[in-house]
Amino acid sequence: MRIPIIAGNWKMNKTKTEAIQFMNELKAKELDKSVETIICANVTALEELKKLEEDKMYVIAQNFNDHESGAFTGEVSLEMLRDIGISGSLIGHSERRSYYNETDEVVNTKVKLADKHHFEAIVCVGELLEEREAGRQNDVVKNQVVKAFEGISEASMKKFVIAYEPVWAIGTGKTASSQDAEDMAAFIRNVIKDLYGEDVASKIRILYGGSVKEANVKDIMSMANIDGALVGGASLTVDSFEKLVNYKK
Ligand code: PEP
Repeated sequence: MRIPIIAGNWKMNKTKTEAIQFMNELKAKELDKSVETIICANVTALEELKKLEEDKMYVIAQNFNDHESGAFTGEVSLEMLRDIGISGSLIGHSERRSYYNETDEVVNTKVKLADKHHFEAIVCVGELLEEREAGRQNDVVKNQVVKAFEGISEASMKKFVIAYEPVWAIGTGKTASSQDAEDMAAFIRNVIKDLYGEDVASKIRILYGGSVKEANVKDIMSMANIDGALVGGASLTVDSFEKLVNYKK
């Protein structure tokens, strides 16, 4: 059974104080514990938020550098995150790919680092609007998946989570139809099956991301191959995020 995930990606929002307040308010709500709640927080809030974790509620990073250490001014390494108790991160979010030139090779290096250090990761993939309009979305996403996990063994693969986030739907208010999201999730699962076999494909969790909100979360989560949502805007207030976590209620 694949446990559903509702992950909030705060991006560059919330000071440490605001983050702690959010977490305490969220914990005061009655959250559905059959769902894993994940907060992808800003680096300055991670250490304190980690202390506030509880059953089925986890705090992870949004990024780490693709080198283990060295002369990379302003960057944060996986070991630094580990040192403050963090054991997971997003990798390859489209904003990192587009604003910070994160290529598939960089994403693959980070995936390998995560694997080497037993770090959990949600690896993001998704096509641009022009790629979808040209009917190339499957080729693009397949290529991203194949390249991201190059060199990863079958045993390691089950631990990774994949987030399908069509770039044109992120922060735009446009959502892929639940059927389009399901079609891509099924396609990704099939790519994983071709690469790693049925067992891994049936266990790996695939999330959808792109303007998920209260109005569409139930529909998206009802899809057979979608195991959760990665949420930006609607994760920023406790009220809206709680409704997403409690989508079954
Ligand atoms: C995201 O940041 O991963 C995201 C999906 O954002 P939004 O929900 O705001 O579209």
